Amino acid sequence: MEAARIHAWGGELVVERVPEPRPGPGEVLVQVLACGVGLTVLNCIEGHLGADPDDLPRVPGHELVGRIVETGPGVDPSRQGELVSAYFYLFCGRCARCLAGQEDLCLNLEGWIGVDRDGGYAQLAALPERNAISLPPGLDPVEATVIADAVATPVHVSRLARIRPGDRVAVIAAGGGLGIHMVQVARLFGAEVVGLEAAPAKRRYLEQELRVAAVDSTDFHSVRLPSGWEVGADVVVDFLGRRESLTWALEALGPDGRLVTLTTFPGVDFPVSPRRMVFSQLAILGSRYATRGEFALAARLVAEGRVRPVIGRREHVAEVRAIHDDLRRGRLLGRGVLAWPDPAP
Ligand SMILES: [Zn+2]
Repeated sequence: MEAARIHAWGGELVVERVPEPRPGPGEVLVQVLACGVGLTVLNCIEGHLGADPDDLPRVPGHELVGRIVETGPGVDPSRQGELVSAYFYLFCGRCARCLAGQEDLCLNLEGWIGVDRDGGYAQLAALPERNAISLPPGLDPVEATVIADAVATPVHVSRLARIRPGDRVAVIAAGGGLGIHMVQVARLFGAEVVGLEAAPAKRRYLEQELRVAAVDSTDFHSVRLPSGWEVGADVVVDFLGRRESLTWALEALGPDGRLVTLTTFPGVDFPVSPRRMVFSQLAILGSRYATRGEFALAARLVAEGRVRPVIGRREHVAEVRAIHDDLRRGRLLGRGVLAWPDPAP
């Protein structure tokens, strides 16, 4: 089969023919129809989530959508034919957190799809059955790639930050893969939303296509929020993860404000005043992926047309480097997708 693989952590992907995977006990084999391309995949390829040389070569990509074509021992064969998407974390399913429905905080986490086992930059992927989440029928596989992370994560953020009707929510990097779905999910939770974005084309999309107020954040010292926001934001969600953006975010909060941070870049810090945290009762929340329940809700929101999947570019796997290049340069609107033709439509 055709695949793009990592041969050195931090190196270039190699597009090549590789042996087809087989489903082991408790696993399903998925015919991949499409796989999302986002910054998390680049982080994985760089080795930021794990850089064990014994894991190489590795097929990256966790936002895969496809059809189950084979089931391994111990898996109900009637699952064959299901359209599924992959839950990113290799959780145990047995620990206290998993039993509480918080698979994203699993105490025995075995890693991530696309890092610790092969992912979706290939025509076939073998997955643990519990990671293959059934999707509502009728979804377009390319559009459905946004569910697993780009929509599920905003659902998690909205719950974690207690976004309520009337809340003022500012999203930093609102034109990126996560941000462009975060603005939509926050609005579904009832919020008034402003998107901060440096790229003019992405600001235009936010305003004209999604009807979200967009603010230029090229320079955080000169960001101006709309009138009515003088009291401060209730929630700021930061997908940029720089000292400037995080510092701005904390300053922008009003009383009872919540800052949600989702990036994991090493070496980034920012100033926090405990005095102001107390006087304004502020909270800083780290947000870690999403639960399978939130994943299922994300799938429903997309299937019902309540969140619009924003796919800036779709390509065959041979063009994977071009799509990664767009992503690194901040030129990709929303998500990128690698797609294969469906052999059994
Ligand atoms: Zn667990």
